[in-house]
Amino acid sequence: MNPFRPRARARSVHELDYAALWERGIRALLFDLDNTLGLWRAGPPDVRTAELLRRLSAAGFKLAVISNGRLSQRPEVLDFFRELGIPVIWPARKPLPAGFRRALKVLETGPHETAVIGDQILTDVLGGNLMGLYTILVPPLSPNESRFTKFNRFLERWLR
Ligand SMILES: [Mg+2]
Repeated sequence: MNPFRPRARARSVHELDYAALWERGIRALLFDLDNTLGLWRAGPPDVRTAELLRRLSAAGFKLAVISNGRLSQRPEVLDFFRELGIPVIWPARKPLPAGFRRALKVLETGPHETAVIGDQILTDVLGGNLMGLYTILVPPLSPNESRFTKFNRFLERWLR
């Protein structure tokens, strides 16, 4: 299997077929934060995203956020997820395995029943694939992102 290739793609977290994921045996969802659930280095995700996360949780999915961001500088983001009861793993240093392992441990889930949803091949998809997770790539919410991410995207284009 090509570790740079997502198992699935979706247009956004709002357009993913979560019922189909459940059908496949997926019971836990790890969401990337920046440019997947919300804007890069921005405040908390919007109301629609909060609603989505509440619905998924009510449907029985275990949820976590796994971010490479420095979230100590964004306490309102941490508050947002705390209120939803969603653990946030940061800094995860994706694609390294430690953050993913921590997420699996916190959620008490196994790799075969866990999906990761994110906007970057070199962090979310590569890291998830190396852990044996079901990887789902979404396009970034906005072109606004770090220089490091821009460089990663350059490498992504080259990999394609
Ligand atoms: Mg991202």
